[in-house]
Amino acid sequence: MAGPARPPTTTAAQARLVEEVLGWGAPRPSVAPDLVERLLARTTAAVGAWLAAREAAARTAPLVVTKTRLSRLACDGLQRDPEPYVHAWANARGTLAHAAIEQDVDGARGEPAERVAAAAWHRLASDRPGDPTSLASWLNVRPPDERDRMVGEVAGLLAAFREVWPDLDVPGLRVVAEGRVRTHLGGRAVRLQGVPDLMVTSAARDGRARTLVVDLKTGMPRGQQERDELRFYALLLTLRDGVPPFRWATLHVTEGRVEAEDLSEAVLATAADRVADAILQAARMLPGPEADELRGGGWCRGCRRRSDCPVAPAE
Ligand code: SF4
Repeated sequence: MAGPARPPTTTAAQARLVEEVLGWGAPRPSVAPDLVERLLARTTAAVGAWLAAREAAARTAPLVVTKTRLSRLACDGLQRDPEPYVHAWANARGTLAHAAIEQDVDGARGEPAERVAAAAWHRLASDRPGDPTSLASWLNVRPPDERDRMVGEVAGLLAAFREVWPDLDVPGLRVVAEGRVRTHLGGRAVRLQGVPDLMVTSAARDGRARTLVVDLKTGMPRGQQERDELRFYALLLTLRDGVPPFRWATLHVTEGRVEAEDLSEAVLATAADRVADAILQAARMLPGPEADELRGGGWCRGCRRRSDCPVAPAE
């Protein structure tokens, strides 16, 4: 069967993305039939520990494992008392840029970037404006000059994205922006969930790995943490669909740079081991804070206990 037509490209960077990241025309990897079983086996003991701890604590709620939980495994104190998320210029700009890119891949490619950016502002500024903790609440008290500057910066990020990312609205391809991915372990005792920024999937269903997962970054690169997040998404898709992605990639929007990692069972096994570690730690911590294991490091910046914690490094 003939595959989908090659997406049209208008810049050299788009052509490179089609060749090198989408791997256009390259054969897709086949998948070992027992891959999912082998990955699940790495979490079995941890899920058993969670089920036992939950029963001992007379709890019924599932454990939810997200990229945020995984990023806090360094210290029990950080898991219990992380600094609350606060809206600020950089993260609001990133969220708006993601919203604008979501619109772009959902059919707004032909519209001026400024208009798409302004529409993204309007959409997010209208989402729960009465909630004082919402982004809408933060956006709605920006003075007009700040609003214009933010919309201008988001339009610039969208233009940078368009320079690299071709219009993939072609038959046989499907691009999903901000699609929630969920899967469960131990019946429904543990829920793994995440929201990859972009997933490019093929209509072909032949058991081969045919999905590309992309995370978009508009701020400072965070190296290993970004790789770990993507690997977690790759694991989620593998467990949910029974077939892994063929590649996962970070697109640094401002630089137009892509870092990609190809399908590897060893890498997925590492991701499964991190999930197992998160589940085991949650089981250990369930009885209460008495037995917390504290470990100081750079992550203490994100912990509410740091001002009087005995093992936090001096600021
Ligand atoms: S300040 Fe650091 S060491 Fe102390 S509880 Fe928080 S993350 Fe752990």
